Formats: sequence, structure tokens, C-alpha cells
Amino acid sequence: MSVKGKTAVITGSNSGIGLGIAEELARAGVNVVLNSFTDSEEDHALAKRISEETGTQARYIKADMSKPDECRALIGKAGGCDILINNAGIQHVCPIEEFPTEKWDAIIAINLNSAFHTTAAALPVMRERGWGRIINISSAHGLTASPFKSAYVAAKHGIVGFTKVTALETAREPITANAICPGYVLTPLVEAQIPDTMEKYGMDREEVIEKVMLERQPSKEFATTEQMGGTALFLCSDAAAQITGTTISVDGGWTAL
Ligand code: NAD
Repeated sequence: MSVKGKTAVITGSNSGIGLGIAEELARAGVNVVLNSFTDSEEDHALAKRISEETGTQARYIKADMSKPDECRALIGKAGGCDILINNAGIQHVCPIEEFPTEKWDAIIAINLNSAFHTTAAALPVMRERGWGRIINISSAHGLTASPFKSAYVAAKHGIVGFTKVTALETAREPITANAICPGYVLTPLVEAQIPDTMEKYGMDREEVIEKVMLERQPSKEFATTEQMGGTALFLCSDAAAQITGTTISVDGGWTAL
């Protein structure tokens, strides 16, 4: 079965990995729904560009993934959801005892709870349409930990557990649920961590990238948003129909260490 003509909802997709996945799916003929919590001209222009480049229907729908009702409403507004990519995510780096409660709550809400709400809304739609793919963007931090990333690591481990439960509840249906676990990908989320890390270790940008970020990534290369898109597309293919409830690491060997 081809993915051509299917509809994908990708949360948090006006930049970085979400946008990369949306572009890759659209190139394969999937109609994509882009999302973030903003509603700017640039957001809608992204969808227009993807439509023009690929000949598919790309739309942008605003919904704040920290708000349960908006997560669920996004699926309704999409007018169909065959492929759900739970990608929206934020980061905050801080020791546990100083970690602001509101940051913890925001990370758990956006990186973990939103996937529960969108999945709960999307499953009946997928069942009615007789096919579905749920792809949760976890992280190498869904399988391993780093200090000072307590909320992020908790949310990303949580999403792996939630993926397994989703897979078991849909095991007898043509629906699969898997998690992609990227290592470092050079996106705005990672860029934002560079200045603080430079200051903390007294390093320049190149040293932070080489000695801190890619220290645990044996390939010594960032993974790319295109590679995340290609992996998502593979999980949507027939070849992946029996792959469910598992994780795929795209981390240059990080979790082999
Ligand atoms: P990014 O900052 O480029 O993208 C995050 C996206 O989430 C943006 O589109 C942003 O607008 C959106 N978003 C943030 N808060 C939102 C909200 N309240 N409602 C809706 N959308 C919201 O970062 P990225 O690196 O592309 O991250 C995407 C996902 O990949 C995240 O879940 C992140 O944890 C995960 N990830 C990233 C890396 C990496 O190295 N970049 C590694 C592993 C996992």
C-alpha cells in the first residue's frame, strides 16, 4: 500500500525535525498538516511552499500542545489522520533541585501528555479509515539519561512506554505505533543549548559541538532532519507493517556504547 494521498498530522512542525518529516512525507505524496502554537504568516507560508513543491495538500493548523483540548481539537480540524507524528518538544537544562516547577510541567505536558491526547483522538479516526501509523519522536534520552535533563529524560522515557501500550492496544489492527530515538540533530532546539554550554565549560562553539554534544555520538556527526523523515517514511511503508511497539535509534551509535 502506498502512502500517497494519506493524511499526516505532525505536531510541532514549523521547524526542525517536524518540518523535515513533513517535507519528506509530502515528497512521497502524503497530505501534511503542519502545527505549532503560533499562527504567523511564516507558518502558513511553509505549508504553501510544501504544497507548491510537492503537489500535495499541505496545511498549517495552530494548536498549543501544552493544552489537552487543543491537542484533541487538532486531530478533528485535520479532517482525517492516517499518520500521526507526535514530535512537538521543548528542553530545559538545570539541576533537579533548581529545576523550575513550571518548566517541569511544560516539558511533561508538551513532550509526553500531548501524545496521549492526540493518540486518543486519532485512534478512532484511524480505526474508521482502516489503517494507521503512529510515530512518536522520543530521543536517545528515551533510552539513556544525562544529568540536568530530568524532565526531558522522564518525558522521553515515558513516550517509549506509551508507544508500547499503544502498540499492544492496536496489535490486531492495521495500525502500528513506534518511537524514533534520534541522537543529536542540529535544529533550533539544539542550537539554543550551545550558548549556555559554551559559557558553562568556557568552550567555543566548535568545542561544545565536538566535546560535549557529539561526545556520546560515536559517528561524530549530527543526524539530519531528512534522515528522520526517511525513517518515518519507512515506518509508514508495508515493509514496516509488523514493526510495532518498538524504538528505532537514529543516533550514530550513541545507545550502542
Ligand atoms: P525544534 O525546536 O526545532 O522544534 C520543536 C517544535 O515543537 C517546533 O516546531 C515548535 O514550534 C514546536 N513546539 C514547541 N512547543 C509547542 C507547543 N506548546 N505546541 C505546539 N508546538 C510546539 O526542535 P527539534 O530538535 O526539531 O525537536 C523536535 C522533536 O525532536 C522534539 O520532541 C525533541 O525532543 C526531539 N529530539 C530532538 C533531538 C535533536 O537533537 N534536535 C534529538 C532527539 C529528540
